Amino acid sequence: MGKVLIIGAGGVGQVVTYKCAQHPAIFSDILLASRTQSKCDAIVEKVQRDVGHPSISTAQIDAEDVSALVALINDFQPELLIHVALPYQDLTIMEACLQTGVHYLDTANYEPKDEAKFEYSWQWAYHDRFKKKGLMAILGCGFDPGVTSIFTAYAAKHHFDEIHYLDIVDCNGGDHGKAFATNFNPEINIREITQKGRYYENGQWIETEPFEFCEKLNYPNIGERNSYLLYHEELESLVKNFPTIKRARFWMTFGDEYLTHLRVIQNIGMAGIEPVQYKGVEIVPLQFLKAVLPDPGELGENYVGETSIGCRIRGIKDGKEKTYIVYNNCSHAAAYKETKAQGVSYTTGVPAMIGAMLAMTGVWKGEGVFNVEEFDPDPFMEKLNQYGLVWHELHDVDLEL
Ligand code: NDP
Repeated sequence: MGKVLIIGAGGVGQVVTYKCAQHPAIFSDILLASRTQSKCDAIVEKVQRDVGHPSISTAQIDAEDVSALVALINDFQPELLIHVALPYQDLTIMEACLQTGVHYLDTANYEPKDEAKFEYSWQWAYHDRFKKKGLMAILGCGFDPGVTSIFTAYAAKHHFDEIHYLDIVDCNGGDHGKAFATNFNPEINIREITQKGRYYENGQWIETEPFEFCEKLNYPNIGERNSYLLYHEELESLVKNFPTIKRARFWMTFGDEYLTHLRVIQNIGMAGIEPVQYKGVEIVPLQFLKAVLPDPGELGENYVGETSIGCRIRGIKDGKEKTYIVYNNCSHAAAYKETKAQGVSYTTGVPAMIGAMLAMTGVWKGEGVFNVEEFDPDPFMEKLNQYGLVWHELHDVDLEL
């Protein structure tokens, strides 16, 4: 039994609130706080109607203001804070957790607002301070990073003596019926995919042009999709935590229509993050674009199809080469039915709740800052099956990569 503070009332925050509310014996009191309190209230109204929980409240917070966070935390006194606002707030929230003695969990690594760049160094730098205070910070507990990292840890624990080649493959085979929309925060999403690509090979990071490498990959229950090599944050921690890896890459599917829209957005300057003056007001083009694009949290209602995300691994077991695939398929419609949110929010929010559950019940313990693959993957894998993200394994098959 314990109190949990959830920060961020977007699509992911909604799923985390639904999923925590389903387990009142563990999450006895829930406070959902975000920049716009009315969004928290709207989520809690749905959660109380669909699930029902004895104690959920809401609050307004600017998560970039450490003293406001400290006041909110001291007032509510949670055991754990689940941060599902934006990556810009990682450091201020970690700072507030340190000042108040609260465990921390997030789903995306820190990114400065003025530079489209994300890496773990900023958050790993907090390790000693968390350790000294006897606190645990769990980084990257969504799907990717998160479940893909746990899948890799599970493969290393049960199926390989050495992992040599890791390919993480992320397919959204769903259709939301809109001409163009992103599946999570458009600003963060567009910053992520318009960056140069990067992969790891033989101890080095190799940079690629955006969308330079494309493979046609087959996804279970979806079929063949163009998959593009991107840089993704879990690669950084996985090659550090599994040093036998010789090559690690990340692939994501995009349809031609999506890429055409993206190209136009970039060509006309709407993906820019430098402020421009418009009628005496300073605006950031990408932030303005976010305001006119569909809200990812509202895409769920008519969303059909599935996501399919997994790891394709080649390595050595008992002296022989082995291949292995582990993946989850998530139906957008089933996610919507349960949490009124689409599959991408669902596949991020469910793992965040599971990580929080393992931390609150003392199954995952630690002092310092950790990536999820550093914990025992078994209880997490068990709970994925129990709480809505059933996974499947294939042994000694063609990896296509
Ligand atoms: P949304 O944009 O839908 O929601 C973000 C929420 O954070 C909004 O409610 C927003 O408030 C709130 N917020 C923004 N700034 C602040 C602030 N300064 N103080 C308090 N609240 C703030 O995003 P998503 O729900 O789609 O994504 C949430 C997080 O999950 C992101 O960090 C994203 O990167 C991560 N993610 C991780 C994935 C994974 O697999 N690991 C996959 C998908 C997402 P307001 O409503 O006022 O705008």
